[in-house]
Amino acid sequence: MFIVELARGLWVILRSMFEKPVTYQYPEVKRPVHARFKGRHNLHRYENGLEKCIGCALCAAACPSDAIFVESAENTDEVRYSPGERYASTYEINMLRCIFCGYCEDACPTEAIVLGDNYELSFYDRRSAIYTKEMLIMPVPEAGKPTPQKVEPGKFTRSIPVMENPKD
Ligand code: SF4
Ligand code: SF4
Repeated sequence: MFIVELARGLWVILRSMFEKPVTYQYPEVKRPVHARFKGRHNLHRYENGLEKCIGCALCAAACPSDAIFVESAENTDEVRYSPGERYASTYEINMLRCIFCGYCEDACPTEAIVLGDNYELSFYDRRSAIYTKEMLIMPVPEAGKPTPQKVEPGKFTRSIPVMENPKD
């Protein structure tokens, strides 16, 4: 019995000697994450560059660790950040409090806040663990313009556009 176990163990070692190594040369090569991985949040924009966040603070209400702070302000057609009546003038997430549960993402009516694939979160002090709107917001898409935008009066009347249900 002992000999059989020994032979089996030796076979496993021998086999693994010829397998392709699975080590990733981090940080040059990053390990791919799964489709539903919950990493650092991103605040998304529409194709035209307007911000998806309408400053409703539902994400902050849903957060079990009280990690999100949202302050909103009114949009006008002269100075418009989002399609809604309001936009987030301040948006902060304290990453030291976040438990990456994704409740904020689930609560968001416009799919503005999405947990992304960035897992490189390290801080030297408590202040730098607070991610501001400027740090979280995605870059302006090629077809879009930065915010605030001056838009045609009366063009944006819906806070929440017609959207498909999430597929996964
Ligand atoms: S992932 Fe969870 S804990 Fe983190 S900010 Fe969102 S709701 Fe709060
Ligand atoms: S991220 Fe979503 S839920 Fe949070 S304030 Fe903006 S629109 Fe509302």
